[in-house]
Amino acid sequence: MATSLDQLRIEAETIWNLKDSLRLIGWDQQIVMPSKASIARSRQMATLSRLAHERLTSDSFRSLLDKAEKEVEGRDQDCDDFCLVRVARRHHDRSVGLPADLVEELTRSCAVAFDAWLQAKPKSDWDLFEPHFEKVLDLKKQVAEARGYAGHPYDAMIDDFEPGMTTAEVTALFDSFRPFLVELVSKISQSSAVAEDGPLDQEFPIDGQDRFSRELAESIGYDLVNGRIDAGPHPFCAAPAGSDIRLINRFQIDNLNTALFGTLHEAGHGIYEQFSPPRFEHTPLRGGCSLGVHESQSRLWENFVGRSRPFWRYHFPRLKEIFPTQLLGYEAEDIYRAVNRVRPSFIRVEADEVTYTLHVILRFEIEVQLLDGSLKVSDVPELWNAKMKQYLGIEPPEHRLGCLQDIHWSDGLVGYFPTYSIGNMIAAQLWERIESEIPDLDSQLERGDCQPLLTWLRREVYDHASKFLPKDLVLRASGQPLSHQAFQRYLDKKYKDLYDLGS
Ligand code: ZN
Repeated sequence: MATSLDQLRIEAETIWNLKDSLRLIGWDQQIVMPSKASIARSRQMATLSRLAHERLTSDSFRSLLDKAEKEVEGRDQDCDDFCLVRVARRHHDRSVGLPADLVEELTRSCAVAFDAWLQAKPKSDWDLFEPHFEKVLDLKKQVAEARGYAGHPYDAMIDDFEPGMTTAEVTALFDSFRPFLVELVSKISQSSAVAEDGPLDQEFPIDGQDRFSRELAESIGYDLVNGRIDAGPHPFCAAPAGSDIRLINRFQIDNLNTALFGTLHEAGHGIYEQFSPPRFEHTPLRGGCSLGVHESQSRLWENFVGRSRPFWRYHFPRLKEIFPTQLLGYEAEDIYRAVNRVRPSFIRVEADEVTYTLHVILRFEIEVQLLDGSLKVSDVPELWNAKMKQYLGIEPPEHRLGCLQDIHWSDGLVGYFPTYSIGNMIAAQLWERIESEIPDLDSQLERGDCQPLLTWLRREVYDHASKFLPKDLVLRASGQPLSHQAFQRYLDKKYKDLYDLGS
Protein backbone atom coordinates (compact mmCIF):
# COMPACT_ATOMS: atom_id res chain seq x y z
CA MET A 1 0.00 0.00 0.00
CA ALA A 2 1.25 3.46 -0.90
CA THR A 3 2.31 5.52 2.09
CA SER A 4 1.05 9.06 2.63
CA LEU A 5 4.52 10.23 1.69
CA ASP A 6 4.18 8.45 -1.69
CA GLN A 7 0.77 10.03 -2.22
CA LEU A 8 2.11 13.44 -1.24
CA ARG A 9 4.89 13.01 -3.79
CA ILE A 10 2.37 12.15 -6.54
CA GLU A 11 0.12 15.11 -5.71
CA ALA A 12 3.12 17.46 -5.44
CA GLU A 13 4.24 16.32 -8.90
CA THR A 14 0.88 17.39 -10.35
CA ILE A 15 1.04 20.79 -8.62
CA TRP A 16 4.65 21.44 -9.59
CA ASN A 17 4.03 20.33 -13.17
CA LEU A 18 1.32 23.00 -13.33
CA LYS A 19 3.73 25.59 -11.92
CA ASP A 20 6.47 24.54 -14.37
CA SER A 21 4.03 24.75 -17.28
CA LEU A 22 3.30 28.32 -16.20
CA ARG A 23 7.02 29.07 -16.36
CA LEU A 24 7.18 27.67 -19.87
CA ILE A 25 4.22 29.64 -21.25
CA GLY A 26 5.55 32.70 -19.41
CA TRP A 27 8.81 32.38 -21.37
CA ASP A 28 6.81 31.90 -24.57
CA GLN A 29 4.72 35.00 -23.78
CA GLN A 30 7.82 37.18 -23.48
CA ILE A 31 9.86 35.79 -26.36
CA VAL A 32 7.88 34.28 -29.23
CA MET A 33 4.15 34.78 -28.65
CA PRO A 34 2.31 36.92 -31.24
CA SER A 35 1.18 40.14 -29.51
CA LYS A 36 -2.50 39.51 -30.33
CA ALA A 37 -2.42 36.36 -28.22
CA SER A 38 -1.97 38.27 -24.96
CA ILE A 39 -5.60 38.00 -23.81
CA ALA A 40 -5.79 34.29 -24.62
CA ARG A 41 -2.50 33.77 -22.81
CA SER A 42 -3.54 35.65 -19.68
CA ARG A 43 -6.61 33.35 -19.44
CA GLN A 44 -4.50 30.22 -19.93
CA MET A 45 -2.12 31.42 -17.23
CA ALA A 46 -4.99 32.27 -14.87
CA THR A 47 -6.40 28.75 -15.29
CA LEU A 48 -3.07 27.06 -14.54
CA SER A 49 -2.50 29.35 -11.52
CA ARG A 50 -5.95 28.64 -10.15
CA LEU A 51 -5.57 24.87 -10.56
CA ALA A 52 -2.17 24.90 -8.83
CA HIS A 53 -3.47 27.17 -6.02
CA GLU A 54 -6.60 25.06 -5.46
CA ARG A 55 -4.67 21.79 -5.25
CA LEU A 56 -1.95 23.24 -3.03
CA THR A 57 -4.45 24.74 -0.57
CA SER A 58 -6.97 21.88 -0.62
CA ASP A 59 -8.06 19.99 2.50
CA SER A 60 -6.86 16.76 0.91
CA PHE A 61 -3.35 18.16 0.43
CA ARG A 62 -3.30 19.37 4.03
CA SER A 63 -4.43 15.97 5.21
CA LEU A 64 -1.65 14.29 3.19
CA LEU A 65 0.85 16.70 4.75
CA ASP A 66 -0.40 15.91 8.26
CA LYS A 67 -0.01 12.17 7.67
CA ALA A 68 3.33 12.44 5.88
CA GLU A 69 4.69 14.57 8.73
CA LYS A 70 3.92 11.71 11.13
CA GLU A 71 5.65 9.24 8.79
CA VAL A 72 8.91 11.22 8.68
CA GLU A 73 8.87 12.09 12.39
CA GLY A 74 12.14 11.19 14.05
CA ARG A 75 14.04 10.83 10.77
CA ASP A 76 17.20 12.75 9.90
CA GLN A 77 16.07 16.32 9.30
CA ASP A 78 18.47 16.68 6.36
CA CYS A 79 17.13 13.65 4.50
CA ASP A 80 15.23 14.23 1.25
CA ASP A 81 11.88 12.98 2.54
CA PHE A 82 11.93 15.12 5.65
CA CYS A 83 12.87 18.21 3.59
CA LEU A 84 10.21 17.45 0.98
CA VAL A 85 7.46 17.40 3.60
CA ARG A 86 8.78 20.52 5.34
CA VAL A 87 9.08 22.53 2.10
CA ALA A 88 5.68 21.37 0.80
CA ARG A 89 4.15 22.37 4.15
CA ARG A 90 5.71 25.79 3.86
CA HIS A 91 4.25 26.33 0.37
CA HIS A 92 0.83 25.18 1.59
CA ASP A 93 0.86 27.43 4.67
CA ARG A 94 1.89 30.49 2.68
CA SER A 95 -0.89 30.05 0.13
CA VAL A 96 -3.75 28.80 2.27
CA GLY A 97 -4.37 32.11 4.08
CA LEU A 98 -4.82 34.08 0.88
CA PRO A 99 -8.43 34.54 -0.28
CA ALA A 100 -8.77 33.52 -3.93
CA ASP A 101 -10.52 36.84 -4.67
CA LEU A 102 -7.52 38.80 -3.43
CA VAL A 103 -5.10 36.70 -5.48
CA GLU A 104 -7.23 37.23 -8.55
CA GLU A 105 -7.63 40.98 -8.02
CA LEU A 106 -3.90 41.38 -7.49
CA THR A 107 -3.12 39.51 -10.72
CA ARG A 108 -5.58 41.66 -12.66
CA SER A 109 -4.41 44.96 -11.10
CA CYS A 110 -0.79 44.09 -11.84
CA ALA A 111 -1.63 43.47 -15.50
CA VAL A 112 -3.25 46.93 -15.69
CA ALA A 113 -0.41 48.58 -13.75
CA PHE A 114 2.14 46.95 -16.05
CA ASP A 115 0.39 48.46 -19.07
CA ALA A 116 0.31 51.88 -17.37
CA TRP A 117 4.01 51.60 -16.53
CA LEU A 118 4.82 50.74 -20.16
CA GLN A 119 3.15 54.02 -21.19
CA ALA A 120 4.39 56.14 -18.29
CA LYS A 121 8.08 55.24 -18.46
CA PRO A 122 9.00 56.66 -21.90
CA LYS A 123 7.06 59.84 -21.04
CA SER A 124 8.64 60.06 -17.56
CA ASP A 125 5.08 60.58 -16.34
CA TRP A 126 4.82 59.44 -12.70
CA ASP A 127 1.26 60.80 -12.40
CA LEU A 128 0.13 58.30 -15.03
CA PHE A 129 1.56 55.36 -13.06
CA GLU A 130 0.76 56.63 -9.56
CA PRO A 131 -2.92 55.52 -9.15
CA HIS A 132 -2.12 52.05 -10.49
CA PHE A 133 0.84 51.62 -8.18
CA GLU A 134 -1.32 52.84 -5.30
CA LYS A 135 -3.86 50.11 -6.10
CA VAL A 136 -1.18 47.39 -6.33
CA LEU A 137 0.37 48.57 -3.08
CA ASP A 138 -2.99 48.55 -1.31
CA LEU A 139 -3.55 44.94 -2.39
CA LYS A 140 -0.02 43.98 -1.29
CA LYS A 141 -0.80 45.44 2.15
CA GLN A 142 -3.90 43.25 2.24
CA VAL A 143 -1.73 40.25 1.34
CA ALA A 144 0.58 41.10 4.23
CA GLU A 145 -2.35 41.29 6.65
CA ALA A 146 -3.87 38.03 5.34
CA ARG A 147 -0.58 36.17 5.70
CA GLY A 148 0.40 37.79 8.97
CA TYR A 149 3.88 38.88 10.04
CA ALA A 150 5.88 39.07 13.23
CA GLY A 151 7.38 42.55 13.04
CA HIS A 152 6.87 44.79 10.01
CA PRO A 153 4.31 44.32 7.19
CA TYR A 154 7.29 44.28 4.79
CA ASP A 155 8.34 40.96 6.43
CA ALA A 156 5.47 39.28 4.58
CA MET A 157 6.80 40.71 1.28
CA ILE A 158 10.47 39.67 1.66
CA ASP A 159 9.46 36.21 2.79
CA ASP A 160 8.07 35.54 -0.71
CA PHE A 161 11.56 35.77 -2.16
CA GLU A 162 13.92 35.12 0.76
CA PRO A 163 12.20 32.68 3.11
CA GLY A 164 12.90 33.41 6.76
CA MET A 165 14.44 36.87 6.21
CA THR A 166 12.99 39.86 8.09
CA THR A 167 12.88 43.62 7.50
CA ALA A 168 14.92 44.19 10.67
CA GLU A 169 17.68 41.87 9.40
CA VAL A 170 17.86 43.55 5.99
CA THR A 171 17.82 47.01 7.62
CA ALA A 172 20.72 46.02 9.88
CA LEU A 173 22.71 44.63 6.91
CA PHE A 174 22.23 47.76 4.83
CA ASP A 175 22.75 50.23 7.68
CA SER A 176 26.12 48.64 8.44
CA PHE A 177 27.19 48.54 4.79
CA ARG A 178 25.95 51.89 3.42
CA PRO A 179 28.56 54.24 4.99
CA PHE A 180 31.43 52.16 3.54
CA LEU A 181 29.88 52.21 0.07
CA VAL A 182 29.14 55.95 0.07
CA GLU A 183 32.73 56.67 1.13
CA LEU A 184 34.23 54.29 -1.45
CA VAL A 185 32.18 55.85 -4.28
CA SER A 186 33.29 59.29 -3.18
CA LYS A 187 36.99 58.30 -3.06
CA ILE A 188 36.81 56.61 -6.44
CA SER A 189 35.18 59.65 -8.02
CA GLN A 190 38.21 61.70 -6.95
CA SER A 191 40.72 59.20 -8.41
CA SER A 192 41.98 59.36 -11.98
CA ALA A 193 43.46 55.83 -12.02
CA VAL A 194 41.01 54.38 -14.57
CA ALA A 195 40.63 56.17 -17.91
CA GLU A 196 37.23 57.66 -18.67
CA ASP A 197 37.21 56.12 -22.16
CA GLY A 198 38.35 52.56 -22.72
CA PRO A 199 38.35 49.73 -25.25
CA LEU A 200 34.65 49.03 -24.74
CA ASP A 201 33.46 52.49 -25.77
CA GLN A 202 32.99 51.63 -29.45
CA GLU A 203 30.75 49.56 -31.70
CA PHE A 204 30.86 45.74 -31.61
CA PRO A 205 28.72 43.96 -34.27
CA ILE A 206 25.97 41.85 -32.69
CA ASP A 207 26.81 38.55 -34.43
CA GLY A 208 30.29 38.60 -32.88
CA GLN A 209 28.84 39.48 -29.47
CA ASP A 210 26.41 36.56 -29.79
CA ARG A 211 29.14 34.09 -30.74
CA PHE A 212 31.45 35.15 -27.92
CA SER A 213 28.62 35.19 -25.35
CA ARG A 214 27.68 31.60 -26.19
CA GLU A 215 31.29 30.52 -25.89
CA LEU A 216 31.54 32.22 -22.49
CA ALA A 217 28.36 30.53 -21.23
CA GLU A 218 29.62 27.10 -22.29
CA SER A 219 33.10 27.77 -20.91
CA ILE A 220 31.73 28.23 -17.38
CA GLY A 221 29.60 25.08 -17.53
CA TYR A 222 26.25 26.09 -19.02
CA ASP A 223 24.90 23.13 -20.95
CA LEU A 224 23.31 23.92 -24.32
CA VAL A 225 21.96 20.36 -24.62
CA ASN A 226 19.68 20.94 -21.62
CA GLY A 227 19.29 24.63 -22.28
CA ARG A 228 19.11 27.36 -24.87
CA ILE A 229 19.96 31.02 -25.29
CA ASP A 230 17.71 33.49 -27.13
CA ALA A 231 17.71 37.24 -27.57
CA GLY A 232 15.02 39.37 -25.94
CA PRO A 233 14.29 42.81 -24.53
CA HIS A 234 15.12 41.93 -20.88
CA PRO A 235 17.71 39.37 -19.80
CA PHE A 236 16.32 36.57 -17.62
CA CYS A 237 16.51 32.84 -16.98
CA ALA A 238 13.42 30.62 -17.20
CA ALA A 239 13.60 27.13 -15.74
CA PRO A 240 10.54 24.99 -16.61
CA ALA A 241 12.60 21.84 -15.86
CA GLY A 242 16.16 20.96 -14.93
CA SER A 243 16.57 19.69 -18.49
CA ASP A 244 14.93 22.77 -19.99
CA ILE A 245 16.73 25.96 -18.99
CA ARG A 246 16.24 29.05 -21.15
CA LEU A 247 18.42 32.14 -20.99
CA ILE A 248 17.50 35.45 -22.55
CA ASN A 249 20.31 37.75 -23.59
CA ARG A 250 20.17 41.39 -24.65
CA PHE A 251 22.53 43.07 -27.11
CA GLN A 252 23.55 46.68 -27.57
CA ILE A 253 25.88 47.47 -30.45
CA ASP A 254 27.71 50.24 -28.55
CA ASN A 255 27.88 48.43 -25.21
CA LEU A 256 29.68 45.08 -25.12
CA ASN A 257 29.19 44.80 -21.33
CA THR A 258 25.43 44.29 -21.66
CA ALA A 259 25.71 41.01 -23.57
CA LEU A 260 28.88 39.64 -21.94
CA PHE A 261 27.91 40.18 -18.33
CA GLY A 262 24.24 39.55 -19.02
CA THR A 263 25.23 36.14 -20.38
CA LEU A 264 27.52 35.30 -17.47
CA HIS A 265 24.86 36.45 -15.01
CA GLU A 266 21.98 34.49 -16.52
CA ALA A 267 24.21 31.45 -17.17
CA GLY A 268 25.03 31.53 -13.43
CA HIS A 269 21.31 31.23 -12.69
CA GLY A 270 21.02 28.54 -15.40
CA ILE A 271 23.92 26.41 -14.12
CA TYR A 272 22.41 26.41 -10.60
CA GLU A 273 19.18 25.01 -12.09
CA GLN A 274 20.88 22.57 -14.46
CA PHE A 275 22.87 21.02 -11.63
CA SER A 276 19.83 20.59 -9.39
CA PRO A 277 19.78 16.81 -8.75
CA PRO A 278 17.38 14.98 -11.16
CA ARG A 279 15.73 13.15 -8.23
CA PHE A 280 14.15 16.47 -7.19
CA GLU A 281 12.53 17.02 -10.61
CA HIS A 282 8.73 17.64 -10.37
CA THR A 283 8.96 18.31 -6.62
CA PRO A 284 9.13 21.49 -4.53
CA LEU A 285 12.79 20.67 -3.84
CA ARG A 286 13.97 21.27 -7.42
CA GLY A 287 16.13 24.30 -8.21
CA GLY A 288 17.45 27.26 -6.23
CA CYS A 289 16.44 27.71 -2.59
CA SER A 290 15.75 31.48 -2.69
CA LEU A 291 16.22 34.49 -4.93
CA GLY A 292 19.14 35.68 -2.78
CA VAL A 293 21.01 32.39 -3.12
CA HIS A 294 20.12 32.31 -6.81
CA GLU A 295 21.51 35.80 -7.20
CA SER A 296 24.68 34.71 -5.38
CA GLN A 297 25.28 32.24 -8.20
CA SER A 298 24.63 34.71 -11.02
CA ARG A 299 26.83 37.32 -9.31
CA LEU A 300 29.57 34.83 -8.54
CA TRP A 301 29.95 33.91 -12.20
CA GLU A 302 29.32 37.42 -13.50
CA ASN A 303 31.55 39.37 -11.11
CA PHE A 304 33.83 37.24 -8.97
CA VAL A 305 34.82 35.13 -12.00
CA GLY A 306 33.85 37.25 -15.03
CA ARG A 307 35.25 40.55 -13.79
CA SER A 308 38.54 39.04 -12.60
CA ARG A 309 42.04 39.35 -14.08
CA PRO A 310 42.58 35.59 -14.59
CA PHE A 311 39.30 35.30 -16.48
CA TRP A 312 40.29 38.02 -18.97
CA ARG A 313 43.84 36.72 -19.34
CA TYR A 314 42.29 33.51 -20.66
CA HIS A 315 39.41 34.95 -22.72
CA PHE A 316 40.93 38.12 -24.15
CA PRO A 317 42.78 36.46 -27.09
CA ARG A 318 39.52 34.95 -28.34
CA LEU A 319 37.64 38.25 -27.91
CA LYS A 320 40.40 39.97 -29.90
CA GLU A 321 40.15 37.28 -32.61
CA ILE A 322 36.45 38.10 -33.01
CA PHE A 323 36.93 41.90 -32.83
CA PRO A 324 40.46 42.48 -34.21
CA THR A 325 39.85 46.06 -35.38
CA GLN A 326 38.18 47.29 -32.21
CA LEU A 327 40.75 45.71 -29.90
CA LEU A 328 43.89 46.56 -31.86
CA GLY A 329 46.56 47.73 -29.45
CA TYR A 330 44.69 46.62 -26.31
CA GLU A 331 45.71 43.96 -23.77
CA ALA A 332 43.81 41.77 -21.29
CA GLU A 333 44.61 44.25 -18.52
CA ASP A 334 42.83 47.04 -20.45
CA ILE A 335 39.66 44.92 -20.61
CA TYR A 336 39.95 44.03 -16.92
CA ARG A 337 40.12 47.72 -16.01
CA ALA A 338 37.37 48.70 -18.45
CA VAL A 339 34.87 46.12 -17.14
CA ASN A 340 35.52 47.27 -13.58
CA ARG A 341 35.07 50.98 -14.16
CA VAL A 342 33.07 52.58 -11.33
CA ARG A 343 30.82 55.46 -12.26
CA PRO A 344 27.66 56.59 -10.45
CA SER A 345 24.80 56.19 -12.89
CA PHE A 346 21.02 56.43 -12.88
CA ILE A 347 20.12 52.92 -14.05
CA ARG A 348 20.43 50.05 -11.56
CA VAL A 349 20.84 47.22 -14.08
CA GLU A 350 23.79 48.99 -15.68
CA ALA A 351 25.48 49.86 -12.38
CA ASP A 352 28.98 48.63 -11.47
CA GLU A 353 29.76 46.36 -8.51
CA VAL A 354 30.41 49.25 -6.10
CA THR A 355 27.42 51.51 -6.78
CA TYR A 356 24.94 48.66 -7.37
CA THR A 357 24.09 48.05 -3.71
CA LEU A 358 23.31 51.74 -3.17
CA HIS A 359 20.63 51.54 -5.87
CA VAL A 360 19.12 48.57 -4.02
CA ILE A 361 19.30 50.20 -0.57
CA LEU A 362 17.43 53.22 -1.93
CA ARG A 363 14.59 51.04 -3.26
CA PHE A 364 14.44 48.98 -0.06
CA GLU A 365 14.16 52.07 2.15
CA ILE A 366 11.39 53.51 -0.03
CA GLU A 367 9.45 50.22 -0.11
CA VAL A 368 9.59 49.81 3.68
CA GLN A 369 8.14 53.31 4.17
CA LEU A 370 5.44 52.66 1.56
CA LEU A 371 4.38 49.46 3.30
CA ASP A 372 4.13 50.98 6.77
CA GLY A 373 2.35 54.07 5.44
CA SER A 374 5.01 56.62 6.41
CA LEU A 375 5.52 57.53 2.72
CA LYS A 376 2.81 58.40 0.22
CA VAL A 377 3.09 57.07 -3.35
CA SER A 378 2.90 60.66 -4.62
CA ASP A 379 6.06 61.52 -2.63
CA VAL A 380 8.17 58.69 -4.10
CA PRO A 381 9.79 60.76 -6.91
CA GLU A 382 11.02 63.45 -4.53
CA LEU A 383 12.45 60.99 -2.02
CA TRP A 384 14.00 58.92 -4.81
CA ASN A 385 15.89 61.92 -6.18
CA ALA A 386 16.98 63.07 -2.73
CA LYS A 387 18.40 59.63 -1.92
CA MET A 388 20.18 59.42 -5.30
CA LYS A 389 21.85 62.73 -4.50
CA GLN A 390 22.74 61.61 -0.98
CA TYR A 391 24.11 58.15 -1.88
CA LEU A 392 25.50 58.58 -5.40
CA GLY A 393 25.92 62.33 -5.78
CA ILE A 394 23.72 62.50 -8.87
CA GLU A 395 20.08 63.36 -9.47
CA PRO A 396 18.03 61.89 -12.34
CA PRO A 397 16.78 64.63 -14.67
CA GLU A 398 13.73 62.55 -15.65
CA HIS A 399 11.63 59.89 -13.90
CA ARG A 400 12.34 57.30 -16.60
CA LEU A 401 15.93 57.45 -15.36
CA GLY A 402 14.73 57.43 -11.75
CA CYS A 403 11.64 56.06 -10.01
CA LEU A 404 10.02 54.74 -13.22
CA GLN A 405 12.97 52.66 -14.44
CA ASP A 406 12.17 49.24 -12.91
CA ILE A 407 9.44 46.82 -13.94
CA HIS A 408 9.04 45.39 -10.39
CA TRP A 409 6.44 47.67 -8.80
CA SER A 410 4.08 47.41 -11.75
CA ASP A 411 4.30 43.64 -11.44
CA GLY A 412 3.59 43.58 -7.71
CA LEU A 413 7.15 42.51 -6.92
CA VAL A 414 7.48 44.48 -3.68
CA GLY A 415 10.19 43.06 -1.40
CA TYR A 416 12.22 41.65 -4.29
CA PHE A 417 15.01 44.25 -4.51
CA PRO A 418 16.94 43.31 -1.32
CA THR A 419 17.62 39.83 -2.75
CA TYR A 420 19.95 41.38 -5.36
CA SER A 421 22.27 42.71 -2.67
CA ILE A 422 21.89 39.71 -0.41
CA GLY A 423 23.10 37.70 -3.41
CA ASN A 424 26.29 39.77 -3.62
CA MET A 425 26.93 39.25 0.09
CA ILE A 426 26.39 35.49 -0.13
CA ALA A 427 28.61 35.29 -3.23
CA ALA A 428 31.44 37.05 -1.37
CA GLN A 429 31.14 34.67 1.59
CA LEU A 430 31.21 31.65 -0.69
CA TRP A 431 34.15 33.13 -2.59
CA GLU A 432 36.23 33.47 0.61
CA ARG A 433 35.61 29.81 1.40
CA ILE A 434 36.34 28.76 -2.18
CA GLU A 435 39.63 30.68 -2.23
CA SER A 436 40.73 29.03 0.99
CA GLU A 437 39.80 25.54 -0.22
CA ILE A 438 41.04 25.90 -3.83
CA PRO A 439 44.34 27.75 -3.39
CA ASP A 440 45.27 27.65 -7.09
CA LEU A 441 41.87 28.92 -8.26
CA ASP A 442 43.41 31.92 -10.06
CA SER A 443 45.76 29.79 -12.15
CA GLN A 444 42.90 27.41 -12.98
CA LEU A 445 40.73 30.29 -14.20
CA GLU A 446 43.68 31.70 -16.12
CA ARG A 447 43.85 28.36 -17.98
CA GLY A 448 40.09 28.50 -18.60
CA ASP A 449 39.53 25.59 -16.21
CA CYS A 450 36.27 26.10 -14.23
CA GLN A 451 35.88 22.43 -13.26
CA PRO A 452 37.28 22.57 -9.70
CA LEU A 453 35.11 25.63 -8.97
CA LEU A 454 32.04 23.93 -10.44
CA THR A 455 32.73 20.78 -8.43
CA TRP A 456 32.90 22.85 -5.23
CA LEU A 457 29.67 24.69 -6.01
CA ARG A 458 27.88 21.46 -6.87
CA ARG A 459 28.91 19.85 -3.62
CA GLU A 460 28.21 22.82 -1.34
CA VAL A 461 25.27 24.56 -3.05
CA TYR A 462 23.70 22.99 -6.16
CA ASP A 463 23.31 19.44 -4.77
CA HIS A 464 21.13 20.76 -1.93
CA ALA A 465 18.68 22.47 -4.34
CA SER A 466 15.77 23.81 -2.22
CA LYS A 467 16.16 21.45 0.73
CA PHE A 468 17.24 24.07 3.26
CA LEU A 469 16.26 27.59 4.27
CA PRO A 470 18.64 30.12 2.66
CA LYS A 471 20.24 31.20 5.94
CA ASP A 472 20.99 27.56 6.80
CA LEU A 473 22.45 26.87 3.38
CA VAL A 474 24.63 29.99 3.57
CA LEU A 475 25.97 28.98 6.97
CA ARG A 476 26.71 25.42 5.81
CA ALA A 477 28.35 26.42 2.54
CA SER A 478 30.27 29.54 3.55
CA GLY A 479 30.90 28.78 7.23
CA GLN A 480 29.63 32.29 8.14
CA PRO A 481 26.19 33.66 8.97
CA LEU A 482 24.97 36.16 6.37
CA SER A 483 26.61 39.57 6.72
CA HIS A 484 27.96 42.38 4.54
CA GLN A 485 31.52 41.92 5.76
CA ALA A 486 32.94 39.50 3.17
CA PHE A 487 31.53 41.62 0.35
CA GLN A 488 33.00 44.75 1.95
CA ARG A 489 36.43 43.06 2.20
CA TYR A 490 36.18 42.01 -1.47
CA LEU A 491 35.25 45.49 -2.72
CA ASP A 492 37.80 47.19 -0.50
CA LYS A 493 40.70 45.06 -1.75
CA LYS A 494 39.74 45.06 -5.43
CA TYR A 495 38.89 48.73 -5.84
CA LYS A 496 41.69 50.12 -3.69
CA ASP A 497 44.02 48.30 -6.08
CA LEU A 498 42.19 49.39 -9.24
CA TYR A 499 41.88 53.02 -8.17
CA ASP A 500 45.19 53.44 -6.29
CA LEU A 501 43.39 54.42 -3.11
CA GLY A 502 46.18 53.38 -0.75
CA SER A 503 45.47 51.33 2.35
ZN1 ZN B 1 19.79 37.65 -11.50
